[in-house]
Amino acid sequence: MKIIFLGAPGAGKGTQAKKVAQKMNILHISTGDLLRQNVTNSTSLGRQAKDFMNKGALVPDELVTQMLIDRLSRPDIEKGFILDGYPRNLNQAKKLDEVLADKNRSIDKVIYLDASEPVIIQRITGRLVCRSCGANFHIKNMPPKKNMVCDHCGGELYQRSDDKEETVRKRLEVYRQEAACLIDYYSNTGRLIKIKADDEAEPVLKEIFAVI
Ligand SMILES: [Zn+2]
Repeated sequence: MKIIFLGAPGAGKGTQAKKVAQKMNILHISTGDLLRQNVTNSTSLGRQAKDFMNKGALVPDELVTQMLIDRLSRPDIEKGFILDGYPRNLNQAKKLDEVLADKNRSIDKVIYLDASEPVIIQRITGRLVCRSCGANFHIKNMPPKKNMVCDHCGGELYQRSDDKEETVRKRLEVYRQEAACLIDYYSNTGRLIKIKADDEAEPVLKEIFAVI
């Protein structure tokens, strides 16, 4: 089984992808992890990526695509995988289909986790992070025992600037523009499955299993 997970920031894509991969005993390939692994192992692609990161620049799409192609050339993908964080645009989606077709493989299903804007805003803008140990909390869903103090280390909690409402709305807008083409592409090729993701993680997970 080869699956792609799509979803806006705050839709729960990463969490669900990890759980489904574990239960199905297939690989969870996240582009964030791929990038970190390449940098840590100081591969040729990782060193190129690090040059961009050191300059404070974004790692170009092309490098991430190369890391993914490299990953998909390893024999362990035979057992199946979930892609998380890729593709992000139509060009990448087409490229991915080409790369897999060269190996006589294809993506079976694309799960699109569809959460509504108010839910996403509530999830993201309520996030709190510990300055000292990096632990995550949520004002409503997972509040710390003491106001703005980390349960684990006593450090101060804060809200990341990325998680402020205005920024979240902008990120969602950018996501929607990019995702629209992807959703059409996978829908037109009969692979898209849309799942409502406003609910808690557990019921959404059950729904995902019901369709795959
Ligand atoms: Zn802490």
